[in-house]
Amino acid sequence: MKYTKASFTFLGTGGSMGIPVIGCSCNICKSINPYNVRLRPSGLIRVNGKTILIDCGPDFRIQALTHQIKEIDALILTHAHHDHTAGLDEMRIFTLRSGKPLPCLLSSKTLQELKIRFYYIFNDRYSDKGIKLTTDLALNCIENSAGELPFEGLNIRYMDYSQGGMQVNGFRFGNLAYVTDIKEYSPDIFSTLEGVEILILSALRHTPSHLHFTVDDAIEFAQRVGAKQTWLTHIAHELEHDRTNVYLPDPIKLGYDGLEFNFNAELS
Ligand SMILES: [Zn+2]
Ligand SMILES: [Zn+2]
Repeated sequence: MKYTKASFTFLGTGGSMGIPVIGCSCNICKSINPYNVRLRPSGLIRVNGKTILIDCGPDFRIQALTHQIKEIDALILTHAHHDHTAGLDEMRIFTLRSGKPLPCLLSSKTLQELKIRFYYIFNDRYSDKGIKLTTDLALNCIENSAGELPFEGLNIRYMDYSQGGMQVNGFRFGNLAYVTDIKEYSPDIFSTLEGVEILILSALRHTPSHLHFTVDDAIEFAQRVGAKQTWLTHIAHELEHDRTNVYLPDPIKLGYDGLEFNFNAELS
């Protein structure tokens, strides 16, 4: 197995509503601590001169402007929910500019749902000059529930789990894994995650949710994986940044928007 240096950036670490929540006057939504401001969940991998986006939610445009993202070379989608895909139309600028379809890795279940949510993207519409007017995706569909595949020069391991009946995929890139929107899972997931050194894991809040891990669920899961670092994401406005970090045992911490670190990506 060959590895190369790569970087990961959190473009967003908020839950489906982001923080501040529209119209909310709770202490966290009104907080002046910048760590309590969280856009919808998304990650960016930079490797071998390529920029790979993980999920493109409704905040993608502002995330791209904030981080001066000029190009996206590939897109990986975890599942079809709004907070992870609502920015799909924003990919249009990249495909119009490059004149090439954007490679997109997703499961066939996610694709099925996207075809309903974004039907017009999948109805081929071209201009007089033969340019596709909507986001143009080159689809790489995952059919199995776990395995590995080459994508954009990387060897990517994938696994599925679910949240309230929605199938979601987690992805492993060498020593880093991105596991969001997890609620129900098979114990097999721990063999795919064995040896992961940096784990990105979702945890919504302390009180139970039918779709998400609580903070305590995430601690239990993270300790079983045993990564050197675990960063929690997909955070709701019940979790104050500093207070929650005091509660979390080492080496588990809340991620935050803009946090960036290096990892070793596995090459295909
Ligand atoms: Zn979500
Ligand atoms: Zn609030």
